[in-house]
Amino acid sequence: MSKQNAAIKEEEIRPEDVFSEFMRLSAHDAENFFDKSKFVEVNCPGCASSEIKSKFKKNTFTYNNCEECGSIYVSPRPDLSELIRYYSVGKSQSFWAEEVLKKTGEKRKESIMLPNITRIEEVIEKTGHKPKRVLDIGSANGAFLTEWKKRHPEAELHGIEPGQDAARQCRELGIEVYESSVEDEAEQGDAQGDLVTCFEVIEHVQDPELFAKAVYKVTAPGGVAIMSCLGADGFDIQLLWEKSRSLQPPYHLNFLSHKGMTELFSKAGFKEVSIFTPGRLDVQIVQKSIERGVVPELSRFEELLLSRGEETLAAFQKFLADHCLSSHVWIVCER
Ligand SMILES: [Zn+2]
Repeated sequence: MSKQNAAIKEEEIRPEDVFSEFMRLSAHDAENFFDKSKFVEVNCPGCASSEIKSKFKKNTFTYNNCEECGSIYVSPRPDLSELIRYYSVGKSQSFWAEEVLKKTGEKRKESIMLPNITRIEEVIEKTGHKPKRVLDIGSANGAFLTEWKKRHPEAELHGIEPGQDAARQCRELGIEVYESSVEDEAEQGDAQGDLVTCFEVIEHVQDPELFAKAVYKVTAPGGVAIMSCLGADGFDIQLLWEKSRSLQPPYHLNFLSHKGMTELFSKAGFKEVSIFTPGRLDVQIVQKSIERGVVPELSRFEELLLSRGEETLAAFQKFLADHCLSSHVWIVCER
């Protein structure tokens, strides 16, 4: 763990007051925004099984836990048109962009984006890739690609970004932008990257299978796609379960298990899919939740563990990260 990474605090990237308001707005939206007659039933987005081990409701949305692979997913869920409508006019959505991202932008760059770049460099060095064309799915205002270029001046920057304003900002930065979704671009366009990146998108997509196939198509033969997301196998998710603030409709529809992720991206065509979990926040998230009075059912051992000092818990967090037991997941897919 580098010095730069060590200091991350949940509060800095999700300040409590602003985040609580975001949670309140999204709960209200989940309950009131959607025409639920348009909801569609789906099978497990990871392994495609329809067998369900258990389910729970949150703000009127139903989360299922897949019997086969352990993924957690919303079904029935909004169809694509409802979801697009939500992302363009939903109240909590604009609050997120205006309040959360703007207020935490600098901190996010320091504690999330820069370590991400270092991590990508480590991955491509390990896999032996020397990418020239870098394609960022959901490139937003182009911040990630711009940082990448500073460290890799030879890189050709490409972004896929459906938002009109964001796409314009990318163009002004010299990024070639496909103003589209990755699913549409894979279907009709010609975008391809030797390195494809995509941060925190899988949780939100309406149809993960279609998404995974699209990621495959926009990855050049011999190239690599590197994605981050939240996963079902992580410590805070497993412990907090329905009490987890990450399981938040209408945003987070898919929490894939490792098994689910591997099946999904292998089926899409990738020849090598590997997963690691560099998460640093699981223990902190559980502790904060308990401090807020949202206490999960803990076994005697878990209670004992969480009562131990900082040093033990830091070592435990490292153990989680090293053994694919953190909820912050990276997926590396080689085509
Ligand atoms: Zn499954």
